[in-house]
Amino acid sequence: MRIIRLILLILLVVSIQSCKKKTSRSNNYSNDSERYYNEYEEAYPDDTYCADVDYYNPDTGFSNNYTLNVDVEYNEVIRISFSSGWLDSSEFSSEELDEDGYCSITLYDGREFEIQITGSECSFDDGYQIENDIQDEIAAVTCPRCGFSKYEYDDYCDDCQDRIDKTCSRCGQYDAFMFAGDELCSDCEEEDQEDDDW
Ligand SMILES: [Zn+2]
Ligand SMILES: [Zn+2]
Repeated sequence: MRIIRLILLILLVVSIQSCKKKTSRSNNYSNDSERYYNEYEEAYPDDTYCADVDYYNPDTGFSNNYTLNVDVEYNEVIRISFSSGWLDSSEFSSEELDEDGYCSITLYDGREFEIQITGSECSFDDGYQIENDIQDEIAAVTCPRCGFSKYEYDDYCDDCQDRIDKTCSRCGQYDAFMFAGDELCSDCEEEDQEDDDW
């Protein structure tokens, strides 16, 4: 009788597992039963939490601190919510929270988030603030002429700067033999020369 009960229990657990598996995102867990067990040991059960977030972009050197909501699943931060946008597993691989509710996440593009959970979901957060800051950051490294990336301290990307430098200020034609600082293309210069000769 006891064995039958045990088998039923195992079957129940297995069926719950397979249901969960379908709804959960793909990850590198190999041991499902361990995960199932851990759910009852977690300090931060699956939910949305308020967090103190330090943001740092090593490309621009920009950093700031925000209050943001984060989603926790299987004791890992799987989503950082902004105002209308968010970051999730398409931008980073989720990180496990330590017993104090802290984890550090590095996005695939190198930007870093240090997350400290401070309590249950907050209704006032800095979602707008971080969205604006990131937009400014993107603008600072996006060439306004072609939309591709540029260095923050340059006005344009190297390609566009080159085109601008080698475009004649009089006739507007591109001349590969112009140098930065030259105003006129060789045609226009020649024209001037001929005018002088007259
Ligand atoms: Zn450009
Ligand atoms: Zn010209």
